[in-house]
Amino acid sequence: MDALTRRYITGEGTRESVWRDWIQHHPLPEGDVAELMRGSRTVHVVAPHPDDEILGCGGIMQQLSRRGVTIRVWAVTDGEASHPGSRRWLPDTLARMRTWESEQALRLLSVSARRDRLAIPDGSVARYEPELEAALIAALETEDTVIAPWRLDGHPDHEAAARASLRAAAAVRCRCVEVPIWGWHWADPRSGDFPGYRALAIPLDDHDRQAKARAIQAFHSQLVPDPDTGAPPILTASVLARMQRAFEVVLQ
Ligand SMILES: [Zn+2]
Repeated sequence: MDALTRRYITGEGTRESVWRDWIQHHPLPEGDVAELMRGSRTVHVVAPHPDDEILGCGGIMQQLSRRGVTIRVWAVTDGEASHPGSRRWLPDTLARMRTWESEQALRLLSVSARRDRLAIPDGSVARYEPELEAALIAALETEDTVIAPWRLDGHPDHEAAARASLRAAAAVRCRCVEVPIWGWHWADPRSGDFPGYRALAIPLDDHDRQAKARAIQAFHSQLVPDPDTGAPPILTASVLARMQRAFEVVLQ
């Protein structure tokens, strides 16, 4: 089946044991953040929802921060649509809570980043791609690097954010790499869904890995079930297993 027709984020997704086994047999090219940066002094992390910046590249941000690289996190939405119909977590509450969680997580990583809130409606990024693209173009310099979600990440907001980021980077002629987030969930490497030839795996040491695990715990709203609607946590054990590896991957 064409991958373009089946990037659904349902169930537990591709198990981490499947990824581990596949990567063992198809080792990903490894590099460090210097190779990722290629001399950039500013890195822009485009996060469709508060937590994507940590899940996708929390370890990379720690390494960049230690090198004195300027980090800007673009909070595209405030994540207010994560609990539809919940009386416990109304959209206004979620927007404030998730923003606060993201700020706490950056602090737990000891990453000093400027965080810009664009307040685009959660779930509707595709309708606001021109606004996101314009905001990025106004801020980007040719020598910067953009870290966007994978263009085939599966979540519509992630793919829209990726499209806008890629267009903005192309307009300014700066480097743009992509990080899979929900891509690890829908893609099955055994079916050829994963572009290993584009991958650069950045190893995380124990310190970075533990700090990332602590930072993920800051996203309380995403980690517990909703007693009001009975919805399970957004970040299930399967998701967390994929996000707490000893490496992070960018596609370049
Ligand atoms: Zn997201």
